[in-house]
Amino acid sequence: MKEVRVRYAPSPTGDPHIGNIRSAIFNWLFAKNKKGKFLVRIEDTDQARLVENGIQKQKDSLKWFGLDWDEIYIQSERLKIYSKYAQQLLEEGSAYRCFATQEELDKLREKQKKSGRITRYDSRYRNYDPKLSKERSKAEPYVIRFKSPQKGITKCLDNIRGEIKFNNKEMDDFIIIKSDGYPTYHFANVIDDYLMNISHVMRAEEWLPSFPKHVNIYNSLNWEMPIFVHLPMILAPDKTKLSKRHGATSVEEFKQAGYLNSAMFNFLVLLGWALDDKTEFFTVEELIKVFDINKISKSPAIFNKEKLDWFNGRYILNSKYDDFAKEINNYFKQFLDIKKYKAIQNYNINDISIMIKERCKTLNDAIMLTEFLYQKPKFKSKYEIQIMCDNPEQCQTILTSSIESLNDIQEFTIENIESILKSLMTKLKVKPKNLLGTLRIIITNQKISPPIFNCLYILGKKESIKRIQFAIDYL
Ligand code: GLU
Repeated sequence: MKEVRVRYAPSPTGDPHIGNIRSAIFNWLFAKNKKGKFLVRIEDTDQARLVENGIQKQKDSLKWFGLDWDEIYIQSERLKIYSKYAQQLLEEGSAYRCFATQEELDKLREKQKKSGRITRYDSRYRNYDPKLSKERSKAEPYVIRFKSPQKGITKCLDNIRGEIKFNNKEMDDFIIIKSDGYPTYHFANVIDDYLMNISHVMRAEEWLPSFPKHVNIYNSLNWEMPIFVHLPMILAPDKTKLSKRHGATSVEEFKQAGYLNSAMFNFLVLLGWALDDKTEFFTVEELIKVFDINKISKSPAIFNKEKLDWFNGRYILNSKYDDFAKEINNYFKQFLDIKKYKAIQNYNINDISIMIKERCKTLNDAIMLTEFLYQKPKFKSKYEIQIMCDNPEQCQTILTSSIESLNDIQEFTIENIESILKSLMTKLKVKPKNLLGTLRIIITNQKISPPIFNCLYILGKKESIKRIQFAIDYL
């Protein structure tokens, strides 16, 4: 069998969308499974749509998912190649120059619209005299258009959909080289897939309508085609195309919201692919072993945010404490302001990991759960401190005796803190809510926080006592 060579071909026109990354993941897994090559091709021929750092953004998101590439190409550096093949098509009569101005084309559109026809180019230069065309091209701007077949059908073979037939009557003579000399997506994409020896094209279903254009270019050049697999759409639960109005859609947004790359990877693979009807959790190594393009589904995949949250929570729960410590540290470094990040550095990140891992669904939860480390409690009223107690006197007793108990601890460990506070509860005959609940509020200023024994341990004896004293002074 031919060597498997697949590619991910993003246009650097914005923050990479998770739909694109899903395509990248499928291609990468397939390449790894077949011991083939994974290429990245930056399709930057639409100069008007480029964004700053677009290429870097693409590379960064691939790296975040661990999708390493064997070769990388940038189309804007290959203009001569496309121009050579366009010339060839011109000479062979499979393409032609079109000198229609924008004004002319606008008029045509208007006219077609008024008479209720489909608006499209009317092939006005299709039969133009080649000599005249060449002459005019020396002085006038022009585009090169492909001579699409006008009769019959174009058959397109998709690996999961079978043969799809397109009526050639509906095809127009589309542009292959624009007036700025850049190729269009359709043209450069086909030329490159062929020259780069791509064996399988796996791309989003959105490209299905363009498929006949590509097939006709292959046919006119007499080139053998790769195998095509159009990946199912990703829809929101309301069955419309996943877009901004459904929430986060770009890799960067998910990263910022605190999702783990490993969880996202696993989750994205399941959007349009399944090994069977039960297995959901896979490591990357397992996926490399079992990934099979014949198991890609035809029907759209539904992006279920609750499921992603659940997935992420499970990944966090199952991670090792020191791995999670690295994750939160990285996350804090990127998304906390420098002051807060520095303040967090005063604490042991492994202790933080042990304190919060079980309570985090996302890395963003770690921010909220550690805020108390650098934000000292502030109270608006005495009631806030006393709320967990049966009466103000009880609160006072709890606070003063907690200081005494904590002071008595020689080795300030989680276990020692827990045992001394538990015996204090028995001694004072108070409920956990009274004592632990009150400490939670005055230490963390929150009703929900990591386990209080861990909080006290991380803050240390001195700071813990200081905070309790602060509450006593406030009363
Ligand atoms: N540049 C196209 C995109 O961004 C690539 C489509 C393809 O893979 O052929 O979707």
